[in-house]
Amino acid sequence: MDMQTTFLDRLFESGLLIDTGVDGLYGRSGQFEDVIAAFERLIDKFGGADGAEAMRFPPGMNRAFFEKSGYMKSFPQLAGTVHSFCGGELDHMSLLQCMEVGDDWTKDQQATDIVLTPAACYPLYPTVARRGKLPMGGGLFDLQSYCFRHEPSRDPARQQLFRMREYICMGTEQHVTDFRQCWMDRGVEMMKAVGLDVTIDIANDPFFGRAGKMLANNQRDQNLKFELLIPITSVAEPTACMSFNYHQDAFGAKWELYLEDDSVAHTACVGFGLERIALALFHHHGLEVRHWPSKVRQALWG
Ligand code: ATP
Ligand code: ZN
Ligand code: MG
Repeated sequence: MDMQTTFLDRLFESGLLIDTGVDGLYGRSGQFEDVIAAFERLIDKFGGADGAEAMRFPPGMNRAFFEKSGYMKSFPQLAGTVHSFCGGELDHMSLLQCMEVGDDWTKDQQATDIVLTPAACYPLYPTVARRGKLPMGGGLFDLQSYCFRHEPSRDPARQQLFRMREYICMGTEQHVTDFRQCWMDRGVEMMKAVGLDVTIDIANDPFFGRAGKMLANNQRDQNLKFELLIPITSVAEPTACMSFNYHQDAFGAKWELYLEDDSVAHTACVGFGLERIALALFHHHGLEVRHWPSKVRQALWG
């Protein structure tokens, strides 16, 4: 058994993260939350003048929209569904009996209309589609949500329930690719302001199975996804703290997002992994915020 103290152990000991007994499911201290709140204000400062429309959805989404999104085709291994007990009194008795003897009491739970949100932008596309055509100047949205991904890990930067702040842009190809480039530049600038060294690299999503390999290669070949990487648990394999995704007109076609001239909207989204950014700050500047460089505290708290 490896007795080395890991970053996760140190986060538990300091109280910044709170152990729940499940890998990737943690409570957060007031101090940890304060760092996330400060970083979100920094995001507001950089993005605030763009006039994005803010929306906040709960961490569960309409199952019908989730099904239509195609998430189960690409990432079945990551999805989390919400199931509930829907039986009568007899079913309840057998449920309790099942629990009593330690059998699997969950197998008769029924799917509800809710699925856990896998990425903050997922509930947005059907919402915008319902409004009708987008103006030629496009649409810009500001979202933040807890997201669920079934990827239990002892790496504190890989959680099962974590927050993603996103800006989503819809419009012409030129418009949304300019938007993405703008946030890649801003991302580097923001991280520099808080004393973090970053690299940007091309990336792909973890598409499931053998067919998924081809989708991932295609995504790379077409430069559809970039990540802003910061070393947290490993220098050799730095962690993606932001991602910059261009969906071409795939989401526009799927959700019937049209511009006023009846062309299909292109979309792009930029996501900040809020826990990962906080962890990068704690890893780089130490677990005691009062000992962080004053320049960094100034950038975060003014
Ligand atoms: P990775 O390659 O590390 O799995 P990803 O490509 O799956 O990341 P995205 O799907 O682009 O990440 O999600 C947007 C952002 O959300 C990421 O840049 C990252 O900062 C954050 N994120 C993704 N998965 C997790 C996770 N399991 N725990 C914490 N943050 C995450
Ligand atoms: Zn997104
Ligand atoms: Mg992932």
